[in-house]
Order: sequence, then C-alpha cells, then structure tokens
Amino acid sequence: MWVETIVVDGLALAQEIRKEIAEAVGRHVASGRRAPKLAVVRVGDDPASASYIHGKRRACVSVGIDSSETHLPATARPSDVAAAVAAHNADDGVDGILVQLPLPEPLDARAIMRAIDPAKDVDGLHPINAGRLFQRVPALVACTPLGILEILRRYEIPLEGAEAVVIGRSDIVGKPVAVLLQQANATVTQCHSRTRGLREHCRRADVLVAAVGVPKLVKRDWVKPGAAVIDVGVTLVDGVLTGDVDTEGVSGVARLVTPHRRGVGPMTITMLLRNTLSAYEQRTGA
Ligand code: NAP
Repeated sequence: MWVETIVVDGLALAQEIRKEIAEAVGRHVASGRRAPKLAVVRVGDDPASASYIHGKRRACVSVGIDSSETHLPATARPSDVAAAVAAHNADDGVDGILVQLPLPEPLDARAIMRAIDPAKDVDGLHPINAGRLFQRVPALVACTPLGILEILRRYEIPLEGAEAVVIGRSDIVGKPVAVLLQQANATVTQCHSRTRGLREHCRRADVLVAAVGVPKLVKRDWVKPGAAVIDVGVTLVDGVLTGDVDTEGVSGVARLVTPHRRGVGPMTITMLLRNTLSAYEQRTGA
C-alpha cells in the first residue's frame, strides 16, 4: 500500500505561531505594559549550547520578547549557578528562566531546575510543573512535547482512541509527550532501551514519536501504513545532523513525517516563546 507522505514544515508552522505571539506581545506593550522577558543562564563554553542560546535569543527578538544572558565559567560551583537563578527569581522584570542544558560535570541539572521559581520555569522541568502536568492542572510544560502536540493538532492528526507509541522516556521529551498524548485520549505505549520487540510495538502505532538519539533507528518496516511519524532525535553523524527516523525510507508508508531539520526543532523554540508569554501573562495578570 503506497501512501502520500506529508513532510511537516515545522518552520512555516513556527512562523505562523510566532506571528500570533508577536501580536499578543504587541497588544501588551501598546497598552503601556513592559515586554515579557526571558533570562538565560549559560554555564561553560560548549559551542552547541552557545548556538542554541543564540537561536533562542534571536527568536525572542522576532516576537518582541526581551532577553538576557548570564554566562558563568565551566568551573562554576553549584552555589554560583544557584545564585544566578536566585537573582532572576527575585527580579520582578524576569518572566522566564532557562538554564541551558547540558550542564558541565559535576553540576546536577535536576537540583538546579528545582531552584527555579516554578512560575518562571519556561522549560517545564521543575517537579512542581511536571506534577501539575501529571495531574492535568495548568502548568508550564516542556517545550518539545508541546511543539509535537501542536504539530499533530495543526496537521489534524486524530488522537482520540489512536495507538500512540513513544520511543524514549526522558523527563524533557519522552515522559511529558506520553502524558500529553494520553490526555488527548490516545492509547500510549512508552518504549525505551530495555523494550522487547520494539519494531512490533512501533508497527502498531497510528502516531509514532521517536525521541531517542539513535540515528535512523526507525525504518520503513517499523511504520504502519498511514501513521504519523514524529522524529525528535538530533545526532551529529560525520558532521551531519541526523534524526531517529529514516525519513526517505518511511516516505510512501507514513501519512506524515517531520524532517529532522525544520521539523520539531523550530517548534521547540516557538513553544519556549509561548511559555515565556504565558508566564508573563500569569505573573503580571496581563
Ligand atoms: P535521552 O535523555 O538520552 O533519552 C533517550 C531515551 O531513548 C531514553 O529513554 C533511552 O532509554 C531511549 N533509548 C536509547 N537507545 C534506545 C534504543 N536503542 N531503543 C529504544 N530506546 C532507546 O534523550 P532526550 O533528551 O529525550 O532526547 C532524545 C533525542 O531528541 C536526542 O537526539 C536529542 O538531541 C533530541 N532532542 C531534540 C529536540 C528538538 O527540539 N528537536 C529537543 C530535545 C531533544 P532508557 O531510558 O532505557 O535509557
């Protein structure tokens, strides 16, 4: 069975949503309020982190959100990072705080996430926000899972009663996306490195989310004809960014696939902007 495969244009979708965010920010500023503000904390000199932060701050500019960057050396102690976070927590003019991951060893990312004011936790990684998501009460939710759900919604992929399979169980992608899919009334199977018969699980999926970091793990014969396939993975292979899905291989089988470039990535940054706007509106009552 040959299926026409839609390749998601994550960049176009992101631009559409950024326009909506920019309009909302513009309305707040026009009514005399300050603009929302995101404070980024960077520790060390990892070039990939620097590049991600550059992209995020440029995205802020594109929608009228202010941003700042606190750069600490790789030798920073936990108390130095905690002090930077505490200063942003106490600053009423800061709405969102993002500590760029990964952090240099031996800093404990979980402990640092717990230091962020949950009301400013725009990455949705504080246990309070994770718990709120779990209990389905308003929360700041991790950006990549939000972006994935937005792609599925805007491309009108039915989730009610659908079989959804998520490969990966990280706090930042796998777990929250599984919760969101289940809350959208999909029947969710969560797979991981110890799962037996991974291919067979995947073959049942109407919606397949691969958040693994193993290049081209998901092959043509892993995909049910007509499935929506979301490729979250980003791995550098011989200098080339490669996804978890063999995109060409699944073409003609999947109904929809996200490319590993211009797929989920631009939506992740866009959800960071949306979370910053939400945190601002929640905090200021705007
Ligand atoms: P992670 O914390 O390393 O988690 C990877 C998950 O994949 C783990 O749950 C692991 O299982 C599972 N896994 C590893 N090898 C497997 C295998 N062979 N078969 C089945 N499951 C396997 O990674 P992450 O932070 O969730 O990120 C996943 C990927 O998405 C990475 O490539 C990352 O760069 C990318 N990413 C992209 C974006 C974006 O915006 N595009 C955002 C975030 C992450 P165990 O739990 O058993 O170890």
